[in-house]
Amino acid sequence: MSDKFLVIGEAREGTLRNVTYEAIAAAKKIQPEGEVVGVICGDTDQESQADEMIYYGADKVITIKHDNLKAYTSEGYGQAILSVIKEEAPFGIVMGHTSVGKDLTPKLASKLESGLVSDVVDLELEGDTPVFTRPIYSGKAFEKKTVTSGLTFFTIRPNNVPALERDESRKGEVITKDIDVAGIRTVIKDVIRKAAEGVDLSEANVIVAGGRGVKSEEGFKPLYELAEVLGGAVGASRGACDAEYCDYSLQIGQTGKVVTPDLYIAVGISGAIQHLAGMSNSKVIVAINKDPEANIFNVADYGIVGDLFEILPLLIEDIKKM
Ligand code: FAD
Repeated sequence: MSDKFLVIGEAREGTLRNVTYEAIAAAKKIQPEGEVVGVICGDTDQESQADEMIYYGADKVITIKHDNLKAYTSEGYGQAILSVIKEEAPFGIVMGHTSVGKDLTPKLASKLESGLVSDVVDLELEGDTPVFTRPIYSGKAFEKKTVTSGLTFFTIRPNNVPALERDESRKGEVITKDIDVAGIRTVIKDVIRKAAEGVDLSEANVIVAGGRGVKSEEGFKPLYELAEVLGGAVGASRGACDAEYCDYSLQIGQTGKVVTPDLYIAVGISGAIQHLAGMSNSKVIVAINKDPEANIFNVADYGIVGDLFEILPLLIEDIKKM
């Protein structure tokens, strides 16, 4: 059996996402003595990204460069990565449980008639068999899963498997492959982004999330200020998004982003089950709500009962003094 693991790198605006490094650590956990091979697709040279994968533990990195791989499409990336899988014949493939990971891995696994375990938050070896832990029922329970035959595909939830220490002295091979994806049917020519500020929500270590209790777009200002002093990102409940206080890209929950920061501060959020599905595995949860009976206090490690518009300025002032 091959002892090689492929890690599919995912970049945003030219920089690899942290979850790529976490995926390398996950692959190393499964094949401690095996070879970890990174794969990066794009339309430019990805030498610095390849070096970063090596510093974080990859033994070799394959970069695939083609004009049609400027932005992710399941067809383009699927075709390119499929050809690497066939050539490298690994034991398994891992990537982040991101929008791209959720789209790409089922496609590849089904093409190769292999098993896929998605949204993994922990993993261990039982003998030679990798056993994956993943949340079910909106995070109320966990199940352990294995893949019994074929390649082992899995995706890891960001912020759950710590990346290895970055080591610039690590050396590895970087190979650029010429894979022809000229024949794909859809190509993204350009991506026009809304101005995205600050820390990426799905990988943030600190999140300050606002709900309907914040009352307006203006009401979100102190949340942005608190997030800034803590080096974090701002998120929201669907209630706040539906009320147009903020953009849907901030929504956390069952139909939004799933996050696992070190610190989650829920401000004016009642704690509906659909919201908890996206944040209840956060390491420390702080809730600020004027209703002492609010459900969010049932999952909070620390609760502050009171008016958020009085509490937030005090918190910001105190943290600034630290
Ligand atoms: P509310 O429930 O209205 O709570 C507002 C809270 O603010 C209250 O607890 C109140 O006491 C507090 N408050 C008010 N004023 C103040 C103040 N001045 N200071 C302090 N506290 C104050 N929701 C999500 O969040 N994410 C999802 O992904 C999601 N998916 C869904 C999917 C489906 C299929 C369905 C049916 C619903 C989904 N929902 C989701 C909606 C969810 O059920 C709730 O309606 C929503 O989470 C409520 O948002 P909220 O807590 O901000 O608002």
